[in-house]
Amino acid sequence: MRLTQNKIEEIILPILNEEGLPLVTQLYGKENVSEFDLAKDTKLDIKVVRKMLYLLYNNNLVSFNRKKDKEKGWYIYYWTLIPDNVRFIYFKRKREQLIRLNEKLEAEEKELFFICPKECVRLTFDQGMDFEFHCPECGDLLNQDESNIKNISKINNRIKQLEDDLNEEKRIVRRAIVKEKKRIVKEQVKAKRKEEKKKIVKKPVKKKKTAKKTSPKKKVTKKKTIAKKKSKTVKKPVKKKVKK
Ligand SMILES: [Zn+2]
Repeated sequence: MRLTQNKIEEIILPILNEEGLPLVTQLYGKENVSEFDLAKDTKLDIKVVRKMLYLLYNNNLVSFNRKKDKEKGWYIYYWTLIPDNVRFIYFKRKREQLIRLNEKLEAEEKELFFICPKECVRLTFDQGMDFEFHCPECGDLLNQDESNIKNISKINNRIKQLEDDLNEEKRIVRRAIVKEKKRIVKEQVKAKRKEEKKKIVKKPVKKKKTAKKTSPKKKVTKKKTIAKKKSKTVKKPVKKKVKK
């Protein structure tokens, strides 16, 4: 779902009232907006802007960074809307609306009214049934109350709209899950490749390093010591033998 400014305003309106809408305009599509810029551009007092930002923050709709002003020594806060959370609240509200509308629809449908064309009576569905939907006064066939039908059709339209919106949410969630799975697979592949590279690359690198730096010396010293030891161990018995 594309988060248009209208949708964001729809979400933020109950939190900040109309006074806060210019703030949304300034935050929309931007990142790390300084609170002083927000105050300047909305022509609101900095204290009012801060209060609004904290309200949004309490609703998880914005995040902030802070940086110390080296000259003045205080912190300046930079604000960014969190689109995923805005979306989450948007759909949460839609779900709540859908529940309320379904209840309303049920109530409206329960309260079907029937009226006499000559306007003698207005009866509920049950009462109409008792008279087989004929006017108890004049005997004419009762009609269903039009205002009720209009209400019901309005509610039904609204419900359909909400269900479409919520289907969009399901698609977004599904897409996010697919994306996350792809990301995990990619990371696993990357990690494997790294390991394979380490296996292939590390061995020759070690050999080269040891060959260049340490091994000649070590080899020489080893050879020397071995040679010394050998000569000692070999020579000694030889000497002894010679002496004896
Ligand atoms: Zn009648």
